[in-house]
Amino acid sequence: MKKVVGHFIDGEIVEYNERTQDIYDPALGDVAAQVALASKETVELAIASAQKAFPEWRNTTPLKRARVMFRFKELLEENRDKICYLLGKEHGKILHDAAGELQRGIENVEYACGAPELLKGEYSKNAGPNVDSWSELQPLGVVAGITPFNFPAMVPMWMFPLAIVCGNCFILKPSERNPSTTLFLAELLYQAGLPKGVLNVVNGDKEAVDLILQDTRIKAVSFVGSTPIAEHIYAKATANGKRCQALGGAKNHAIIMPDADMDNAANQLLGAAFGSSGERCMALSVVVAVGDQAADALIEKMTLAMKDLKVGAFDNTANDFGPLITKQHQEKVLGYIDSAQDQGASIVVDGRGLQVKGYEKGYFVGATLIDNVKAEMDSYKAEIFGPVLQVMRVEKMQQAMQLINDHEYGNGTCIFTRDGEAARYFSDNIQVGMVGINVPLPVPVAYHSFGGWKRSLFGDLHAYGPDGVKFYTKLKTITQRWPTSGVREGANFAFPS
Ligand code: NAD
Repeated sequence: MKKVVGHFIDGEIVEYNERTQDIYDPALGDVAAQVALASKETVELAIASAQKAFPEWRNTTPLKRARVMFRFKELLEENRDKICYLLGKEHGKILHDAAGELQRGIENVEYACGAPELLKGEYSKNAGPNVDSWSELQPLGVVAGITPFNFPAMVPMWMFPLAIVCGNCFILKPSERNPSTTLFLAELLYQAGLPKGVLNVVNGDKEAVDLILQDTRIKAVSFVGSTPIAEHIYAKATANGKRCQALGGAKNHAIIMPDADMDNAANQLLGAAFGSSGERCMALSVVVAVGDQAADALIEKMTLAMKDLKVGAFDNTANDFGPLITKQHQEKVLGYIDSAQDQGASIVVDGRGLQVKGYEKGYFVGATLIDNVKAEMDSYKAEIFGPVLQVMRVEKMQQAMQLINDHEYGNGTCIFTRDGEAARYFSDNIQVGMVGINVPLPVPVAYHSFGGWKRSLFGDLHAYGPDGVKFYTKLKTITQRWPTSGVREGANFAFPS
């Protein structure tokens, strides 16, 4: 019998008699454990627990809520090794990459520690004679988050710390493919002093998600995952009267200008394309080289550097990246490489057929570089989500920008150049939500907000940072007047001005 990863409800880990699903060790290609898939009853317990906790939590001072997050941050740091181990074991990412993920998650907790400042609101004295007016940010109630497999620590921490310090109670449904890290985060938050029911973690699949989307007691849903599911979540959640932000997939292009520092660009692209096996929504998966000279120089440098890349299990920090998440995903990535070849692209470095000694059943794909990719190819249109970098050749920067603007996704993009004018024109006009200038992975810091354009985000507000505060609160504006005692006032039928 494999260990079953349960849920975290009302302050404790619970396990019921439910459906389960296998969790794999992606490096070994073996079943490592199982995860419980929440039934209707389990989701109901989580919602009831959160609802019960809300009135008291809502009235807890922002300072006290923030203190829980200060302690949580300390516990995350004290447990860094264990969290990185859990991340590596279930996701496959190498320990140094896991440490980077955790650090970005901690930065969101640090931002949430500023709750008293973030929730101060605005005040206008003498908005009228004897009239004062102020705006305050009130919590929504019970809110939910649904998260993907590729950042089991960071993406949940984009959501629950901020939602909770804003006074909400949170129900989190992590990816069923690697749920252990997220469950451990919930345990740490309770150790940090969070009252029961303020955070509940429900593991599960579509059944649990649909119950969350239907339930009118849940006031808002934050989703991060693939675009088809994001679109479905947004449509269902908003149809049921919820506030929703649904972040989807990506195809992130880098433009290489002929004047770019090619050595630096090649090095930056290596990490941005192949880090975490390309399983990042900000992974750079397409290079658009302006001019054949730039393309040839870059390909030459990258081909040379790719020979030294090391692929293997998470616990050897000499490795650059690890396996893909599942066998099915490995097959999908390999299928896209095959299709690029079949449709006329040139495979410059071929990662198919990679065998890692001692891990022969693992879901590995080696770093792959493909040249002469065209806009009509399937491998260009789709998000591959693997260690595959595709090169396209154009003559002018405008053509490169047109390709990016025409693509269905608009998450991240970047330009490598030494020309400030070109960079400024690019950042001003490109139809993408997060832009880098000689920065290949322009993931905003925790005090800005994260979000793509076009079909990379459904909803109006981006994730975390200032937009996160707006998303997890509703604005109330109060106008107050204290009449002067003894002065009799008559009725006034004109509109107050
Ligand atoms: P996914 O869409 O398969 O799953 C995400 C979540 O949705 C999971 O919790 C899953 O249980 C749930 N889900 C899956 N199918 C569902 C269905 N039919 N109905 C209801 N819920 C369902 O995504 P994934 O494979 O876990 O993650 C990879 C994807 O996430 C990639 O497309 C990647 O680009 C995207 N992603 C985007 C961002 C971003 O910020 N834009 C960040 C990370 C990942």
